[in-house]
Parts: sequence; structure tokens; C-alpha cells
Amino acid sequence: MKRVYTSDTTKLAVVPLKTANKDNSATPAYVRDFHVMAKPGGSKCNIDCQYCFYLHKEELLAQPHQAKMDDDTLEEYIRSYIESHDGKEIVFSWQGGEPTLLGLDYFRKIVALQQRYQPAGVTIQNDLQTNGLLLNDEWCEFLKKHGFLVGLSIDGPRKLHDKYRVTRSGKPTFERVMKAVELLRRYAVPFNALTVINRHNAKYPLEVYRFLVDELGVNYIQFTPCVEPKSYQKNAPQFWNVNDIPMLNSVESRPGHPQSVVMDWSVDPEDWGQFLITVFEEWVNNDFGKVLVNLFETAVAQTMGYPAQICVMAEFCGKALAIEHDGSVFSCDHFVYPEYKLGNIRDIPLNHMVFSVRQEAFGMSKRDSLPDYCRRCPHLKLCWGECPKNRLLKTPEGELGLNYLCSGFRQFFDYASPILVGISRILQP
Ligand code: SF4
Ligand code: SF4
Repeated sequence: MKRVYTSDTTKLAVVPLKTANKDNSATPAYVRDFHVMAKPGGSKCNIDCQYCFYLHKEELLAQPHQAKMDDDTLEEYIRSYIESHDGKEIVFSWQGGEPTLLGLDYFRKIVALQQRYQPAGVTIQNDLQTNGLLLNDEWCEFLKKHGFLVGLSIDGPRKLHDKYRVTRSGKPTFERVMKAVELLRRYAVPFNALTVINRHNAKYPLEVYRFLVDELGVNYIQFTPCVEPKSYQKNAPQFWNVNDIPMLNSVESRPGHPQSVVMDWSVDPEDWGQFLITVFEEWVNNDFGKVLVNLFETAVAQTMGYPAQICVMAEFCGKALAIEHDGSVFSCDHFVYPEYKLGNIRDIPLNHMVFSVRQEAFGMSKRDSLPDYCRRCPHLKLCWGECPKNRLLKTPEGELGLNYLCSGFRQFFDYASPILVGISRILQP
């Protein structure tokens, strides 16, 4: 199999594939489907989470301080996003930075534009990812009325949440997030938890999980491991200095060491494995069928022979792009670096970028660049080397491209695989 490293894909031209255009035949050979994380307000935020991977984009991408997608670009984005989908349901995701800083009128405009371009028989859904601080009665009325699904960032109970999620002046935010929860509940706005597992809260798996389920009352939880390379503010993923890449299990491959490859707040791989094991056990015993956890749902589906439900555990990726406030489109939300810019919707049609030779190669390289260590791994078909942005290590044989979280994932899958097989037997139709 030809090895194509993700960085090599950036040299390819953004040439549209045949699949960029709708197949209008009676029995279409393909259905165009993809997802874009839109950042109409750029990286602007009203708090200053220490571990945020996006705040520095203002400097990296030379964004204006008050970045805002202008009306023409917004309209072009909404029109072309709708036109480039062939399915009956289209999901828009609004994120940042903090998207609510754009104000409610901006979102009223978004909904009006969606209605203008909505084809008959097609449903449009909106997701809003927010820290919740600006939500008030007016916002909640609007979100309810227009069927928005809110992804609320919360890292656990007060003492864990306030460790990193603080204001610019270092003030805690937990209280204000819980006020948002109260409002969302009052207006019956559906919401999920987006929980970043960092070096600190990873050590309290049951406290985090039970808080989200029992006190927040969410039935969908998205756990995201915090992995931030030391050079993340300047170096794009896969453009790291090869000499700085440590070996699996070396001291530099863990957080907290002066020469560590990651920032101090990154989750320790062993803690990540233990976090997943503890929460998985709790979930299987008490909440299976009641609470959805992104990583467990996908592991069950994959064990049953279905495709991964989240990109990070899939064989290929490349169908989850990002658009910045100025119309620039990037290969992925985690690859918003100049090297991974595909173009701008003001110059190139969105479908030509999404379904392009270059973007396809980006997605394929998730599998094709895997080191032999992963190819031999008994858990390959559940893990697929996780996200390429986290492939910060060398294998014991010295090959590049091993995931920073590998030891944690191995630990988790060693434990969970027999249980997943049991669950899949029960669920098999
Ligand atoms: S690069 Fe990572 S986050 Fe982006 S689409 Fe691929 S797996 Fe998903
Ligand atoms: S568990 Fe480790 S070796 Fe196995 S596929 Fe995942 S990253 Fe590769």
C-alpha cells in the first residue's frame, strides 16, 4: 500500500472530482454528504480556557480583532452548503471562538437565509457549540423556536470545570454555565455536553461522568481528549520537526516533563485509558441504552460491523471541514493552519473544495499513513490510529505517525473488546 503522509497531501492541487456535482440519474451512484464547522466570528471568545486550541488563530491567520463573516460571504456559504448536499437532512454547525458573541440578530439572519435556500422536502438542522455564558431568555426562546441543538462546553463539577475554563481575568465560569443549563432546561432547548478530558479531570472519571448524567441530565456526552503539541501555535499537524518526535513510552511522550512533546494540560495517555475504562464500566452497568457516549457508541457500532460514527475512530476522514469568518475553507476543524487551507468560497465553489483530489487524499491518508505498529494492532478496526492531529510519537521501531494516546487506547480496548463483543451479540438483529 502506498504511504501518503498528511503533509504530502497539502502539495496536491484543489481539483474537483467527478463527485463534486450531483448525480442526477434515476439511480445515483453517490450521494454528496459532508459536514462543515462554521466559525463566522473567527476565534473570538469571551473566556480564556487555558487549553483552547483555537484562541491563537487570531494571530496565526492574521484575523481582525472583531472578526465577523460579512453578509455576502454568509449568504454564499449557506447557499452553497445547501446546494452541495444531496440528502434530505442538512446540518449546520456554528462554533468559534464563541459564536454567541455575534449576537442574536446575526443568527436570525442565518435562519432567514436558510429558509430562503431550503429546498422542498429537505430538513435543515442547526447545532450551536457554546460556553453558554451569554445565553439568556431571548436566546433560549430563539433556539427553541428554531430547533437548535446546543452543545454546551462543560468539564465536570465546579472544582474540575474551573481548573481551566476561566475568564480573561482568571475568574471561574462554572456558576454562569449552570445558569445557562437552568435556562436551557426552562425553555426545553435540547443540549449535549462537550467535555474536554485534560490532565486534571482525567483523574476523576466517575465524578465527571456522574455529574454530567445526574446533575446536568444530559443523555449525549461527547468526550474529547485534550492533546496539544508544544508547537501547536505555529506548527501545523504533520509539519512537526521529526527530531522532536519522541518514542512511545519515553518520558517526553507524557505531559509534565520539560522536554515533553505536549503542553502540560494535555491528558496523560495512561490516565486517558483509565478514564475510558472506568466510565465504560459505569456506563455498561448503569446507563447502557439510556446515555449515549460518543466513543462507546462508535465502538459498539464498529464491533457490530457498522461504520464508525465519529471521524476520529474511522478508517478514513476528510468529510468534516471548517470555514473561517472570511470564507476560507480548511481540511478539518483541527487543521486550521495555512498549510491546510483549500481555498475561499468567494473564489472556488464549496463543492469543488470538499470533493477535491486534495481533500480526498487528506481523508485517505488517515489510513494510508498508519505505521506498521498500528497495522499489526489487534484493535486497528476500532481505533484506526485515532486522529492524525494526535500522531505525535514514534513507534518502538522508530516509525513516525503513532498516536500520542496509543497506550491509553490499547489499555481501553484490551479491557472493553470482550464486553463490546457481548453487547454486539445482544444487539445483533
Ligand atoms: S483530522 Fe481528525 S478531527 Fe479531522 S476529520 Fe480527520 S479524524 Fe476527524
Ligand atoms: S491502539 Fe495504538 S497501535 Fe492500536 S490502532 Fe490505536 S494507535 Fe494504533
